[in-house]
Amino acid sequence: MKSVQKIRQDFPMLSTHMNGHPLAYLDNGATTQKPQSVIDAITHFYRDEYATIHRGVYELSQKATQACDDVRAKTAQFIHAPSIDEIIFVRGTTEAINLVSHCLGAYVQPGQDVIITGMEHHANFVPWQMLCIRNGANFKVIPITDTGELDMDAYAKALSENTAIVAFGHISNALGTINPVQEMTMLAKKAGALVLIDGAQAIAHAPVDVQAIGCDFYAFSAHKCYGPTGIGVLWGKKTLLEAMPPYQFGGDMIESVSINKTTFAPIPAKFESGTPAIAEIIGLGAAFDYITKLGFDFIQKQEHSLLIYAQEQFEACLPCIQVIGKAKHKASLVSFIMEGVHPHDIGTILDQEGIAVRAGHHCAQPVMTRFGIPATTRASMSFYNTQEEIDRLVNALEKAYRLLG
Ligand SMILES: *Cc1c(COP(=O)(O)O)cnc(C)c1O
Repeated sequence: MKSVQKIRQDFPMLSTHMNGHPLAYLDNGATTQKPQSVIDAITHFYRDEYATIHRGVYELSQKATQACDDVRAKTAQFIHAPSIDEIIFVRGTTEAINLVSHCLGAYVQPGQDVIITGMEHHANFVPWQMLCIRNGANFKVIPITDTGELDMDAYAKALSENTAIVAFGHISNALGTINPVQEMTMLAKKAGALVLIDGAQAIAHAPVDVQAIGCDFYAFSAHKCYGPTGIGVLWGKKTLLEAMPPYQFGGDMIESVSINKTTFAPIPAKFESGTPAIAEIIGLGAAFDYITKLGFDFIQKQEHSLLIYAQEQFEACLPCIQVIGKAKHKASLVSFIMEGVHPHDIGTILDQEGIAVRAGHHCAQPVMTRFGIPATTRASMSFYNTQEEIDRLVNALEKAYRLLG
């Protein structure tokens, strides 16, 4: 059995202090801390093996090229993609979704429907809204219930042969809701639509199998799964990626260039113009290794027990608090409001106690509007968090209510 105290030693940031208190990092939905192995992989590359890829015959460049190819293979394995050519390195989830919504421009006809849900992050909301405006398509947002789950009847009813694309999150960053992605995909495919899944919140917390889900595109960011910032992944089905036009033009994505004509490289290079984030790709590989070594059985067990504990403590000690998002299937995250106290003031008090949480609309303003609130405070847990940190959170919230409530 792995001990959490031992695991915490893998993450240098977890033994730092904030405002004179040991840091209680409960903002993993925004970004996760990095294990030493990820930091080492990046440092080692810059210090001992730095060179660019796809350039020159010299050994260092070949080694860097190989290292990136290895991570592409590792990524395919991590999400059960059938081919490594289907793994496109991008800056993150945001860029992945923008790429797809942009490159599918010619696919969406005027009068067709693009369907998303009412719990999307702005990154999976605005690109589709803009596509619909550009193409004269209908932008349809499926409502969510009082518990923060998708209204599946409304979803099923909205789908038709007029549906071009359906896009939804695997797990909601604002509510923690785990969507029935397999069933949602199956229904969308039955209607003949393309399906994109925003996996930003899922990738660190649950095993992902894109083939079992049956979707067409899956997007995520490395920094939310213990990897570096500035790198993320778009997975797409080969036939679709091959049919789509390039996103950006430049070096590395061409086959040949002349004054008369330019032809493009095959995937994945077609979508990876310019010098990539080589060190970050290598860091992402180390993050996958770390997660794989820990195992999702352990991760899920640990995070679920933290969720149960947090919910019990909130219920027992904090009658002033209302939890927003009570889905039956929920990730390890508690989003809440406190009677008479603004989330930003709660965030400030928690900050003074060394507790990092997110206060705001979580880039999901339509979710806040749905619940008639401007913002929530969100504590989002990782396997490296402890019951003691949740106790500190609960105590600090009691204090905040005494002072401000
Ligand atoms: C964080 C997040 C995004 C955006 O990810 P970036 O890394 O900022 O591009 C998109 N969707 C969800 C659900 C997220 O949590």
